[in-house]
Amino acid sequence: MNTVVRDVSIFGEAIAYFNEAADLLELDSGMRQILTHPTRQIIFSIPFQRDSGEFEVFTAYRVQYNFARGPAKGGIRYHPGVTLDEVTALAFWMTWKCAVVDLPFGGAKGGVTCDPSTLSSSELERITRRYAADLVEVVGPDKDVPAPDVNTTPQVMAWFMDTYSMHVRQNQPGVVTGKPIEIGGSRGRVEATGRGVTICALDQMREMGIDPKRASIAVQGFGNVGLNAAKLFAERGSKVVAISDVTGAYHNPEGVDVDAAVTYARKFRTLEGFGGAERISNAELLVSECDVLVPAALENVFTAENAPKVKAKLVVEGANGPTTPEADRIFKERGITVIPDIMGNAGGVTVSYFEWAQDRMGYFWKEKEVNERLEDVLLSNLHEIREITRRRGATLRTAAYTLAIDRVVRALKLRGIYS
Ligand code: GLU
Repeated sequence: MNTVVRDVSIFGEAIAYFNEAADLLELDSGMRQILTHPTRQIIFSIPFQRDSGEFEVFTAYRVQYNFARGPAKGGIRYHPGVTLDEVTALAFWMTWKCAVVDLPFGGAKGGVTCDPSTLSSSELERITRRYAADLVEVVGPDKDVPAPDVNTTPQVMAWFMDTYSMHVRQNQPGVVTGKPIEIGGSRGRVEATGRGVTICALDQMREMGIDPKRASIAVQGFGNVGLNAAKLFAERGSKVVAISDVTGAYHNPEGVDVDAAVTYARKFRTLEGFGGAERISNAELLVSECDVLVPAALENVFTAENAPKVKAKLVVEGANGPTTPEADRIFKERGITVIPDIMGNAGGVTVSYFEWAQDRMGYFWKEKEVNERLEDVLLSNLHEIREITRRRGATLRTAAYTLAIDRVVRALKLRGIYS
């Protein structure tokens, strides 16, 4: 998805956001040091056999960033661009994301550097099982709870859960979230991240006096997050003027037929060839005419080059880390409001928390209950963040970090440093 190759550390840039909020909180240097170092970084090799009989080795990661508020939590990414730096940044963001919506979790992330589009289902299964087996000692419902991320699905979670359960010799659905409903998944989990994006966006639009029925929305990325966000925006009566995937962007100022695009993408596994819209590039989508822009693909899509040309009034980050600190400064100067990733895409991990709780109770909720609780969690914390922006004159991003860091620091201080 138009990955911009930049010669900078993603984790290093992520820390810039942390520092801004740490300054506001007047955090001492000891705390800063602790919170800018990952607790544990695991790198290992996954040897596996292709269907053709050939052997190959992939590099795999799990970064457990912080445990102050509870078991570490965060997805697993399968992508050719996965690096230790990226996984560490993603684990860092998970720490603040879980804290900003007040979940009893720390932060983690995992990944395998591979290209799933070249892998058969049985190859994917073998990689997943080996990945899970190598992490048996360090994951678990009370240790670290993985979930889906880019290119990992409920089926991948089912293989992970099964492998872990076989090793520990008991059924342990709570070791991962984002599972299929039949084996302990939660209703509403698949749509949860996209639903969270729309919940935050609609609330912010109300705040900014943008009528959802007249608003135009552009969504970059048509994976689980972008697809569901686009669908829900359309259901709420907003006009989705552009969507995109790796093949390019599809733009129609009169509104793209999102249901038709979803059916098309499910059938062909790509938007390539989708009619009823003009074909533009992903780069053009980001600077197209719209009220609300939702980046829902990978990191670093907004840079110092394109940020001055963005026309949207509101950016809601469905992806993790789509805005570089330079772009963020430009958005601030230009008066473009940004709902930061750690709040904008927190719907997924919030329903992951519900799933984990349901697994532990062995009692499962109706979808309506899941969605109502999700809205309640997101809006109450978004309103708290907004209150901080008013009090401190900060952006929503800095306010979100302030709230999250404060919560983690409180937990850390109560527990103390064991040394
Ligand atoms: N991968 C998702 C995220 O970045 C979900 C993580 C989870 O549910 O643990 O928030």
